[in-house]
Amino acid sequence: SYVPRLPAAGETIVGSKFSQGFGGKGANPAVMSARLGAKTALISMVGEDSFGKEYKEDLIKNKIDVSHVGTTSKAATGVAPIFVNDSGENSIVVVKGANDYLTKECVESAKYLIQNSKILLCNLEIDPKATLHALKMAKSFNIRSLFNMAPATTGLEDYFQYCDILVVNESEAEIITGMQVPGVQEAKTAAKSILQKGCQVVIVTLGENGAAVMSKADDEAVHIPTPKVQAMDTTGAGDAFCGSLAVFLSTKPELGLQESVYRANRIAGITVLSPGTQTSYPHWKDLPPELF
Ligand code: ATP
Repeated sequence: SYVPRLPAAGETIVGSKFSQGFGGKGANPAVMSARLGAKTALISMVGEDSFGKEYKEDLIKNKIDVSHVGTTSKAATGVAPIFVNDSGENSIVVVKGANDYLTKECVESAKYLIQNSKILLCNLEIDPKATLHALKMAKSFNIRSLFNMAPATTGLEDYFQYCDILVVNESEAEIITGMQVPGVQEAKTAAKSILQKGCQVVIVTLGENGAAVMSKADDEAVHIPTPKVQAMDTTGAGDAFCGSLAVFLSTKPELGLQESVYRANRIAGITVLSPGTQTSYPHWKDLPPELF
């Protein structure tokens, strides 16, 4: 909802515009990956309501396998109502709803899917125990995993050893390390420190500054800058980055890590040029030829 100012407690105000779009840290990268032509499946949970029904239809339209998108009667489909004021500031309320009912058992029932994947992409917008189970499962099958540790919290020490590639933004890197990460140099230091926790590669995304990458195979973190663009709406850029990176790493291994990060930066950079989240995600055929 677009409002002149954010409402105070107990206040009713009149907004100027309302719009609705699909989102979420699981579905967004899945849509990005499918639009880049990768065979993509989502393990997820929606409620028995109109949002859940519409979401499943939209995933199918995006050519995503929804055979493991379950439906629960215990909670409504997850939503995130957002207020944006005239200065562009926002207030967001995330209600995870049905996402909290995506259990370890649901993940277990998708064993065959995970076992036959090239890469598993996970986040923390579901029950964290389900995410950990999926990461452990991938590791046991020798399937590469990309873990977007978001929303980040402390106390996630168990997770690092089970993921291959960990992706966080600057504020998530701060939560995990307890260090301030205001820029590129600090992000490189944070990536190096997170790597000690057990994963193979750590990537700290840096908005318009691209990303810092630290790999176990290297002594120092590397900064991968991205060309300057006229950003209009950065919502969902991090998810587009993760979805694109997963596609490059699994379908174009010859590119290597740094070139894959560079291309994921460029694609995420394209998504900030237009409004919305999934609405701004490009299809592979619309990308400049050097990117795909
Ligand atoms: P969001 O929460 O907005 O989805 P995030 O905070 O998770 O994003 P960011 O680090 O802001 O993640 O952005 C992810 C990636 O998107 C960056 O690494 C970069 O490649 C691209 N990106 C984001 N903002 C810009 C920008 N203003 N110009 C160019 N690229 C951008």
